Amino acid sequence: MAPGARHRGGLRRLPGRDGGGVPVAAALVARRGPGGGDVNAGHGIVAIDTGFHRPCFDAAYLLVERGRAAFVDCGTNHSVPRMLGALGRAGLKPADVDWLVLTHVHLDHAGGAGALMRELPNARLLVHPRGAPHMIDPSRLIAGATAVYGEAEMTRSYGEILPVPAARVVEAPEGFAFDLAGRPLHCIDTPGHARHHLCLWDARSRCWFTGDTFGLSYRELDTGNGPFILPTTTPVQFDPEALKTSIGRLLETGPIGMYLTHFGRVEPPQALARVLCERIDATVETTRHVLSVPQADPHGRLVQALRALYLQATRAHGVDLPDAQVIDLLGVDIELNAQGLQVWWAKTHGA
Ligand SMILES: [Zn+2]
Repeated sequence: MAPGARHRGGLRRLPGRDGGGVPVAAALVARRGPGGGDVNAGHGIVAIDTGFHRPCFDAAYLLVERGRAAFVDCGTNHSVPRMLGALGRAGLKPADVDWLVLTHVHLDHAGGAGALMRELPNARLLVHPRGAPHMIDPSRLIAGATAVYGEAEMTRSYGEILPVPAARVVEAPEGFAFDLAGRPLHCIDTPGHARHHLCLWDARSRCWFTGDTFGLSYRELDTGNGPFILPTTTPVQFDPEALKTSIGRLLETGPIGMYLTHFGRVEPPQALARVLCERIDATVETTRHVLSVPQADPHGRLVQALRALYLQATRAHGVDLPDAQVIDLLGVDIELNAQGLQVWWAKTHGA
């Protein structure tokens, strides 16, 4: 991630929720192994802290149904032991995994896919059709991420990105339906954060696995008003109108919860979607305000403006952490959001 990114205090545990009162199988009851940090969310869903960047920043999920398993996203190469550890704590073996579903191919979600797939003899990789070629041949993905993060950070944070054999890759276009041991799952195309983004609907839990489409929500910023939520506008395919349309589509199934990569389960979806769309508009408006007048250091000015915007939003939400701590929690996202907003502005305004 960004240079200077620091690891913060101890692991915090997500509040355990069973998402609808269905009893959780004893074998799946959450146990946090050393450095594992996984949390059982009910319905055979386990949240795994991939350990990327800092504790409680980057999640992956394990879905279990009648002894068969699917992972949703997988963090980086460094996350592979945590993924396998969570599987073992759920009483399962690598051969029991049928699917690795990627919400999109950004490296904090998919960087470890090639390495993890080597450990999972029976798994197929399910990915958006636009993302599939990049998992089979990751060279453009590596080049793109190196442009954002720089060579040294790329090596340190992600390591060597391994390809996935084409024969193991299944493309999931809009509406793609499949099952995990009879448990129905389906994907929809959700552009806006990235054009290679899908979201995964689990009818059993009535929840979406949203990747980055439903924004960012860190548990440290939870208050009596609920989760604090922000859009992520990472380079290079941010499209605000497409993103709002995708968020609207997620509500059509009547979800009761959303599993975010950054970080964990949030609810209620309808109210959070409203706030998220307002913050997309405010973020775009701030960008317009800053970048429409050519001045020196547009990136620095946009970072400052986003800091102010998001700080104000946390205060309105009732967050009472010191400014420096809020900025520290959101710092990497503010930096990436600013970069992505500049790319979007240049594309749409010919700057
Ligand atoms: Zn992400």
